[in-house]
Amino acid sequence: MISVNRYKCGYCGACVSVCPVGAIELVETWIEISDDCTECGTCVNVCPVGAIEILE
Ligand code: SF4
Ligand code: SF4
Repeated sequence: MISVNRYKCGYCGACVSVCPVGAIELVETWIEISDDCTECGTCVNVCPVGAIEILE
């Protein structure tokens, strides 16, 4: 399961553009991740503030 820390996220949009399956959407001041997410980890690595985590 993927988790976004809303206190860390600066809504820069970097994760949205790198997701290979288009699972991330920036909705005003929130990041939504759809069930299309394959937990590939790309967004985790690109986030400049470490706001995204893959939870076991
Ligand atoms: S883990 Fe991969 S598939 Fe899931 S939201 Fe991030 S970039 Fe997209
Ligand atoms: S890359 Fe990180 S800081 Fe930028 S919108 Fe995504 S979760 Fe938020």
